[in-house]
Amino acid sequence: MKAAVLFESPGKLQIVDLHIDDPGPREVKVRIAAAGLCHSDLHYLDRGRPLAGPMVLGHEAAGVVEEVGSAVSYVQPGDHVVFFVVGYCDSCEWCVAGNFAMCDRKFVGRKRGEPTRLRLPDGSPCLQLSDLGAFAEQTLVHENLVARIPSDIPFDRAAIVSCGVPTGVGAVLNAARVRSGATVAVIGCGGIGLNCIQGAVLAGASRIVAIDINDGKLATARSFGATDTINNSAGDALERLGDLLPGTGGVDYSFEALGLQQTYELACTVLRKGGTATLLGVASGTFQIPMDGFAVQGKRIQGSPMGSVHFRRELPHYLELYRNGQLKLDELISNRIPLEQINEGYAAISDGNVARSVVIFD
Ligand SMILES: [Zn+2]
Ligand SMILES: [Zn+2]
Repeated sequence: MKAAVLFESPGKLQIVDLHIDDPGPREVKVRIAAAGLCHSDLHYLDRGRPLAGPMVLGHEAAGVVEEVGSAVSYVQPGDHVVFFVVGYCDSCEWCVAGNFAMCDRKFVGRKRGEPTRLRLPDGSPCLQLSDLGAFAEQTLVHENLVARIPSDIPFDRAAIVSCGVPTGVGAVLNAARVRSGATVAVIGCGGIGLNCIQGAVLAGASRIVAIDINDGKLATARSFGATDTINNSAGDALERLGDLLPGTGGVDYSFEALGLQQTYELACTVLRKGGTATLLGVASGTFQIPMDGFAVQGKRIQGSPMGSVHFRRELPHYLELYRNGQLKLDELISNRIPLEQINEGYAAISDGNVARSVVIFD
């Protein structure tokens, strides 16, 4: 079966004909129908994150179960499924507590010494990104990486609920638990930010202020439900928020989707008393953030891995919300491409052109 394999990082994906193993007892073989191009794969493609060996990239996808292992009862051949990028083991301390996105992921890959699920034409091992490897006609995964979905949902729409949508919507509904009538600021209006805005609409927020430096992204934010927009090119977002919400001291909840010093700082300084900042942009290093009044005003800062979702319960729910017109997915897809154009698809993302491209398999 055809797959997009990365042989060195940084590098380009190569389309290779791979051998795929039969399912082990708890494994599921899936024919992939659609797979999204997510920014986080760029860490391998153009930022040189070390590779342990040739690897199939891609981690958000949907498809049809073809074959299941002897111990699998959750799905059967013919079921439509989406994948969850951070599969869960069901037995570590986090899973037992229901925090599946925090799972230590001990048992979703094959054990050391066992043959890899995929092999190159010469018989040597080929790895799967996140034990998944979605840029391929087929994949073989642990059963805990799939969630069953209704069979009437188009695969391209289903594919994108497995990564960006839960990160944004889940942060609002699960991590921050935004209450009806609350005020919200969303800082950074790319894919994650737009999904925070959708989450805030679902939560019944009274005001949703979108903050970005790009007018095009702010216009899209408005179409996703932002009630107000601030272009922060001049760095005066705090002042302008004061004009929008006079006398309030700021917003009840802020969401940050970029992982930069300035935006982390803004997420904390836009809060009113009792406010919560949820930081989603992945950052490293040391940031300086003004903490005046933070403790005595009962403010909080938190992270939210993968929107803290319970994936087998919530991903199908998101697709039902889509079917009911309550969640926008059509608008999140900007391009549909064949597997052969995957490098061009990623080049467009690198240039910052595209909301989401999806690979469609015939
Ligand atoms: Zn992703
Ligand atoms: Zn676990």
